[in-house]
Amino acid sequence: MELKGIKDWGININDKLIVSGPCSAESEEQVVNTCKALAANNKVNMLRAGIWKPRTRPNSFEGIGSVGLEWLVQAKKETGLPISTEVANPEHIEECLKAGVDVIWLGARTTVNPFAVQAIADRLRGVDIPVMVKNPINPDVQLWRGAIERLYNSGINKIAAIHRGFSSFQETAYRNEPKWELAIELKTLIKDIEIICDPSHICGNRELIPMVSQKALDLAMDGLMIESHENPDVALSDAAQQLKPNDLISLIDNLHFRHEEFDNSLMADKLVDLRSDIDHMDTEILETLSKRMKVAEQIGQFKKDNEVTVLQVNRWEEILENRLKMSGALGLSDDFIKELLNLIHKESISKQRRILED
Ligand code: PEP
Ligand code: MN
Repeated sequence: MELKGIKDWGININDKLIVSGPCSAESEEQVVNTCKALAANNKVNMLRAGIWKPRTRPNSFEGIGSVGLEWLVQAKKETGLPISTEVANPEHIEECLKAGVDVIWLGARTTVNPFAVQAIADRLRGVDIPVMVKNPINPDVQLWRGAIERLYNSGINKIAAIHRGFSSFQETAYRNEPKWELAIELKTLIKDIEIICDPSHICGNRELIPMVSQKALDLAMDGLMIESHENPDVALSDAAQQLKPNDLISLIDNLHFRHEEFDNSLMADKLVDLRSDIDHMDTEILETLSKRMKVAEQIGQFKKDNEVTVLQVNRWEEILENRLKMSGALGLSDDFIKELLNLIHKESISKQRRILED
């Protein structure tokens, strides 16, 4: 896939793309006031506001509709910043193109549905507009990838992903569990894809947003989308997770923007040395594991010859207790070592069982 990076979307950005604005457009005043306050310090590169809101149940606020686009356009006029919104069907795209929306995104509830994504992709054929794709609600990286592929196959090459966390049946501290490993996996599946993190929808509350934003930057995400409202307490949607514009700006000020690549060659050399140490150590670990498995197989043969069961519980308990004492002294955490030993033990047992069955 040959994608055009965010830096080639015609948006003015320093390093990372920072998108902010209300969850939903509610009134012209609310959109314009919020956006003007956000634009004041040159920290925000693009504005957002939801116009059509996919809500879990009917009769909650389902978005203001097309009139909200005019308010966003007004915000663009007054701030000079590009504007973005969520689209869920071809009619929404029609309206956005007419109004002059700069960037559109597919919401989590749209990405889950290949029919909806295909209808959007078909409408976008021949249109040159950047599209961001939120991850689907469920933790299915292939569905996320599939939505991106559908758009790309329609000729869209300005595509980024948005990581907004995943719904979980377990109670967690988050509204949507981040499952960072899935965002990282997407980067390995689509080499050039850039990912914007959406801490607002991951956290669901204001308190966790700074921590999740920093983590996203530390994991080399390419930007942040954070909701902001001039008066969050009376917001018609997502009230608990929206920040006042001033708070958003100080949040950005307090984030540490590290670089993925080094411009300082001394530091780069040091990193190469340290990584080479890690490569050697990993080789040693693998060689030792291989030797250990061979010894386990010899024990398996011995057990077979002497008609002894593969698992001797006492021996396993003894190993666990003894190794945990050692690892504690070495500064390794109990949980990590228990998990590692269990994996090694499982593999030894299955190797010995194979010998028994031969
Ligand atoms: C939103 O960005 O306001 C939104 C509805 O997000 P999501 O699709 O991630 O739920
Ligand atoms: Mn929202």
